[in-house]
Amino acid sequence: MIKIFDTTLRDGEQSPGFAMTIEQKVTLAKQLERLRVDVIEAGFPNASPDDFEAVKAIAEMCQQVEICALARCHSNDIQAAIEALQVASKPRIHVFIATSDIHLQHKLKITREQAIERAVAGVSMARAFTPLVDFSPEDATRSDREFLVEILTAVIAAGVDTINIPDTVGYMTPQEYGELIAYLRAHVAGIERVIISTHCHNDLGLAVANSLAGVLQGAKQVECTINGIGERAGNASLEEVVMLLKTRRDLYQVSTQVDTTQLLATSRLLSDITGQDVQANKAIVGRNAFAHGAGIHQHGMVSERSTYEIMRPEDVGCATTQIYLSKHSGRHGLAHRLKALGIVLSPEEMDEGFPQFKALADRKKQVDDSDLMQLFGTG
Ligand SMILES: [Zn+2]
Repeated sequence: MIKIFDTTLRDGEQSPGFAMTIEQKVTLAKQLERLRVDVIEAGFPNASPDDFEAVKAIAEMCQQVEICALARCHSNDIQAAIEALQVASKPRIHVFIATSDIHLQHKLKITREQAIERAVAGVSMARAFTPLVDFSPEDATRSDREFLVEILTAVIAAGVDTINIPDTVGYMTPQEYGELIAYLRAHVAGIERVIISTHCHNDLGLAVANSLAGVLQGAKQVECTINGIGERAGNASLEEVVMLLKTRRDLYQVSTQVDTTQLLATSRLLSDITGQDVQANKAIVGRNAFAHGAGIHQHGMVSERSTYEIMRPEDVGCATTQIYLSKHSGRHGLAHRLKALGIVLSPEEMDEGFPQFKALADRKKQVDDSDLMQLFGTG
């Protein structure tokens, strides 16, 4: 089983245009629970009073799922996380510290030794509250590998149950990211006792590919977001990760507990709340993800869906395959759509009507049902 760690409400919410009110966060969290993700990262309690209240409210409302709060390795952050998670049935704390020299020197202005000390102190404080503690070495993919091994070995000894490897800047390729996970598995003492998690950003469009490369090397948790939202170009898209694992189970040999029939509803809810639609051709949840435009494709789909469909739309909660009509549609596509509207044409009627349909399709880009009713309807 692969755990799905959703960070829509934390990494996603902090990106421009995706801010949500506490009520909106709770509504989305309830839907994430319905979707059956394993972990909801609900926010960063010490970032603002609103973040604190949101994590607290979600912890109260969602008792079936692990609720996670983010904290730097500072006692104030961890204390705020502990307080926000008091009522959670499965509280998880995600502590992080940057480990790349760039971040240590220019952002934190501390030495590697001080970073290890802070990481261990932070983990120990979180661990005293809950056994569910996640540690992230921020900017892991640009960190010195020997130092990564050192700090991860130390936090595992301090009691984390998960180590998360962020490609914070979205720089990796799948091969490199997979190799990094394999390297850590081979060199970090005690790593077999913890879950390895991926957290990949999409700056070069590789977030999903990198996450799955991690899974192939033994990662058992993927951090991801609905619609792939997140810092800059976003995170790995939850719906793509989940449907990849389901559709290519032959290759990955693992599953998730996600109820995939809730994917589209969750995506739409996030779009409604934030007013940010996904692109029409977005995999899995885009408006066109199950729409077939070309006449040849429509003909194939009408005869046998598997000709052009690798997933069933109902598996992601989409009512039906969309056959929209355009100048590319053929007679089969037209007849199929008319039949769905209760209109059956004789061959003569089709001979007469088809050129009229083509003329209309040339004028309009997409022909919808009301156009068809005007052309072919009896009343
Ligand atoms: Zn991130």
